Amino acid sequence: MMNGQAFLQVENVSFGYGKQYVLKDVSLSMYSGEYTVLIGPNGSGKSTLIKLILGLLQQQDGQIQIQRSRVGYVAQQANRGLADFPATVREVVASGSYGQIGLLRWMGSKHWQGVERALDQVGLTEFASRKLSQLSGGQQQRVYIARALMSNPQLLILDEPTVGIDVQAKEQFYQLLKQLHQQGLSILLVSHDLDEVISDVDRVLCLNQSIYFYGSTQEFLREQKELLPNLFGVSTIRSIL
Ligand code: ADP
Repeated sequence: MMNGQAFLQVENVSFGYGKQYVLKDVSLSMYSGEYTVLIGPNGSGKSTLIKLILGLLQQQDGQIQIQRSRVGYVAQQANRGLADFPATVREVVASGSYGQIGLLRWMGSKHWQGVERALDQVGLTEFASRKLSQLSGGQQQRVYIARALMSNPQLLILDEPTVGIDVQAKEQFYQLLKQLHQQGLSILLVSHDLDEVISDVDRVLCLNQSIYFYGSTQEFLREQKELLPNLFGVSTIRSIL
């Protein structure tokens, strides 16, 4: 897994919105096919790091190398307005290739086949003609994954995608991520659901302004008993995240 070139390389990156740094000297590399979970307390810089990787913010120090055209992004549910938009599931997924629903009239049959494939990948074929707003929170998140898959990404970045979703839908959602990872997709997941995903991920990145821990899941499980209480002030994974 670690041979070949990293397609995401973050080197000694620091960033602050004002005078104070919220990220300091952060370095990481992602290789093809890796599934990494990014954890850390609230305000530890997780979303800021994602925005830097996506190019939505510019780092003040350091370097980020990434093939942006191969990145799909799924944001927090709470941050979006599309759920009220009167579009069908199929149209929302289709907008993943053009970015705008109004441009769908220009799409050829090949694109629509891609839409059906993406819907099938996330298990939502039977919901294709429904309005997005009629779907549950968990189903909507799967629609956004299908939408992100339309750009044929190598890396899928998700920022706390299960906020506000019930336990059962969460399980299904993480099952889907596991399947996509098994099909070869690289995943960078920001989540507090560490217990739910720890057996699926390859690496754990624990951020607290700077990198607190970055290593394999096995290393993390071996060392977390000592590491996490320092960071979160408690002893088990379940009770902190
Ligand atoms: P996390 O995702 O881990 O909760 P964030 O990256 O959202 O952390 O935030 C890191 C720090 O940066 C926090 O102290 C937060 O208040 C601050 N911050 C985030 N966004 C902005 C912004 N747009 N302007 C100023 N400060 C911000």
